[in-house]
Amino acid sequence: MTQDTLPSTQDRYVIVGDGIAGSSAAETLAAETDAQITVLTAESEPLYNRVMIKEFAKGTLPESAVQIHDRDWYEDRGIDLRLSTRVVDLDTRAGVVQTDDGEQIASDELVIATGGSPRRLPVPNADADGVTSFWTIEDAARIREQAASADSGVIVGGGLLGIDYAAIASTQDVDAHYLIREDRWFSRAMSETGAAIVHDALRERGVTPVFETEVERFETDGTGQVSATVDDDGQIYDSDCVGVAIGTEPNVDFLAETPIAAEGGVRVDEFLRTDVPGVWAAGDVARYHDRRLDRRVQNGSWGSAAAQGDLVAQNLLAGRGDREAFAFVPSYTVTHFEFPMASFGHPALGETYRERQYDDREWRRLAFRDGKLVGGVLIGDLAPMGTLSDVVASGQRVQRQSPDLLARDVELPGEHTPVPAASD
Ligand SMILES: Cc1cc2nc3c(=O)[nH]c(=O)nc-3n(C[C@H](O)[C@H](O)[C@H](O)COP(=O)(O)OP(=O)(O)OC[C@H]3O[C@@H](n4cnc5c(N)ncnc54)[C@H](O)[C@@H]3O)c2cc1C
Repeated sequence: MTQDTLPSTQDRYVIVGDGIAGSSAAETLAAETDAQITVLTAESEPLYNRVMIKEFAKGTLPESAVQIHDRDWYEDRGIDLRLSTRVVDLDTRAGVVQTDDGEQIASDELVIATGGSPRRLPVPNADADGVTSFWTIEDAARIREQAASADSGVIVGGGLLGIDYAAIASTQDVDAHYLIREDRWFSRAMSETGAAIVHDALRERGVTPVFETEVERFETDGTGQVSATVDDDGQIYDSDCVGVAIGTEPNVDFLAETPIAAEGGVRVDEFLRTDVPGVWAAGDVARYHDRRLDRRVQNGSWGSAAAQGDLVAQNLLAGRGDREAFAFVPSYTVTHFEFPMASFGHPALGETYRERQYDDREWRRLAFRDGKLVGGVLIGDLAPMGTLSDVVASGQRVQRQSPDLLARDVELPGEHTPVPAASD
């Protein structure tokens, strides 16, 4: 693979993954160069909107509405898209990836944008019919079909994807129990006060949260279809369908024999470079160095994956000294309830937290680390999110001004100059 040299039209760029990160990288590369661009994806469809597949599963959107690109989009840009093509190995010395049908594809620069796959529950009958996880359009079709014919259901996992399952159950009239291992929903980022607003909203929509409980096993009927969920207290919940949302594992199996550090995600620097020259990573799979936090973090959001895809392409094309550090502040919005809700930055990385409740459906919590605002969660009024994200981006120590940041209409804590764009 190449050693930090300027790009030429002879270069071969290979991108593994056609989610929003891989696709954005391909789009930027195609716009900026005449080089050869190949995108390899395990999925059978070109890029679709993963964020919107919950609406398809709810039954509120047709499948066609979540499509983003068709094959012509790639062809028009000279991008060689290979669908249903899984990369199984990488030879970093030769710069060659191997696909599951035995093909070897050489690259000068390689972008790993393989995202993650849902973690499986290690309990008996977790593979029964009717037990689903949620990541692809095929998953969404399965969930939609099962929920449509189910009377009862169970959701497992107290995070953001669990809420999507809860919304699907509610829209499809499934009487659901929502099993959460911790004492509240999204416990890494929410206090009891904030989580209680969500718990009430779940109950109002026919979803009953159950706390401090773990699944022990699933029971099936004679045909292999799930029929019940049994928790570690021996409580039995009727389950015509089950949705498991207990986090994701990065798709890095094909890197096992390479020198690329990939535990928990592909390790990259602030410019999204791995330790191996010519190999980059972007999107959910990338564990990047965040200069503001001075630590490696990983984002799991659409906007961040898109921004990393674009940046990785720009950095790959830029000469040494012109590369930009990744400084985007991620966010994730939930719109299933009567009130909107959003998290921004890294709300689970706070050392100290400040919060305020404005009324029974309006609440805000801010996470501070080393005196800096690093993230937060808002319920009810999302208008301050832009300003608060700017404060995160500024990297300034603002904890003393937290009353201003918690004011209903956020007042900026004095001048906060954005951290200058960094280059290597
Ligand atoms: C149901 C659902 C709802 C969501 N809602 C929101 C939301 O409201 N807001 C938000 O910000 N984010 C949301 N997200 C998260 C968001 O979709 C992801 O953060 C984003 O899609 C990550 O993009 P990515 O390109 O990094 O990875 P992915 O979208 O996971 O794409 C990775 C691609 O790589 C392919 N791949 C993996 N391994 C290989 C291999 N070995 N060879 C070839 N191809 C491979 C995969 O098939 C996949 O197509 C949601 C996710 C889901 C599943």
